[in-house]
Amino acid sequence: MMITKMGVLGAGQMGNGIAHVFARFGYDVVLFDIAEVQLAKAVATIRQNLERQAKKEVIPASLVEETMGRIKTTMAMEDLASVDFAVEAVTEHEPLKLEIFRKLDSIVQASAYLATNTSSIPITKIAAVTKRPEEVIGMHFMNPVPVMKLVEIIRGHATSDETFGVTFELVAKLEKEIAVSQDYPGFIVNRILMPMINEAVFALYEGIATAEDIDKGMKLGTNQPMGPLTLADFIGLDTCLAIMNVLYDGFKDPKYRPCPLLVKMVNAGYLGRKSGKGFYVYQ
Ligand code: NAD
Repeated sequence: MMITKMGVLGAGQMGNGIAHVFARFGYDVVLFDIAEVQLAKAVATIRQNLERQAKKEVIPASLVEETMGRIKTTMAMEDLASVDFAVEAVTEHEPLKLEIFRKLDSIVQASAYLATNTSSIPITKIAAVTKRPEEVIGMHFMNPVPVMKLVEIIRGHATSDETFGVTFELVAKLEKEIAVSQDYPGFIVNRILMPMINEAVFALYEGIATAEDIDKGMKLGTNQPMGPLTLADFIGLDTCLAIMNVLYDGFKDPKYRPCPLLVKMVNAGYLGRKSGKGFYVYQ
């Protein structure tokens, strides 16, 4: 089946990036959100990011208007009825995602495929509330979407080979690299990254080194672009804690227990860059 028309659900940080990349590579996009202000913000952000890409000569200047012209916004999910492929990127809240997929399944045409950008909810669970679990798949973009090269594709328990093939081809058209994961907590990247960050917090908690030296050690000793505590501040300590809890609950394995210092900092409202304070202080 030829995919030409995409639906994107949720116009937040991830949704606007997902709409951006599909439109930029020639797909018609219907972007849906329940909040008008989020849609307006998304359109402004996409334009700004396209203009930045044009200025840096990542894309030709003519692509800015062309891409914007391919994006339509809506507050009615019914407007997604004729899409070939939908990607959901609404707030990470399980009851909400299940409700959205139930409704989406009843609205979109029978031939459409449904993907979720969830970071932590099992694809299999989301697929199971639809009448087409074979056509449901995980498509996990990295933030910021237009910049980051990787997309994880996650096969749910019932995902068909055909759905996988269509999704693989679609992501490849976005000039992204693909890593394929089975549907287990954290998939690949968070499964490995978050325990590393958590271990860095343990090293600080146990007084092994200062935050600066932990970051310097990992940055210069293992050639990472930034140290794990700096990265945690970027991601948000609440998000890091939530992901550790998903791993801990999902595997029932104590090796994923969140560091008590991480828990305490989140309780104190030290969430990293977004709150001005985390392992470091931000102006
Ligand atoms: P966000 O809070 O920026 O955006 C969520 C959007 O969903 C908002 O615009 C909100 O209005 C909308 N929304 C809420 N309820 C809705 C409903 N009933 N119908 C339609 N829209 C609704 O969140 P985000 O950071 O963009 O995350 C979205 C998804 O992407 C989550 O599942 C998250 O786990 C995943 N994700 C996030 C990141 C990241 O770094 N932020 C990375 C990978 C994946």
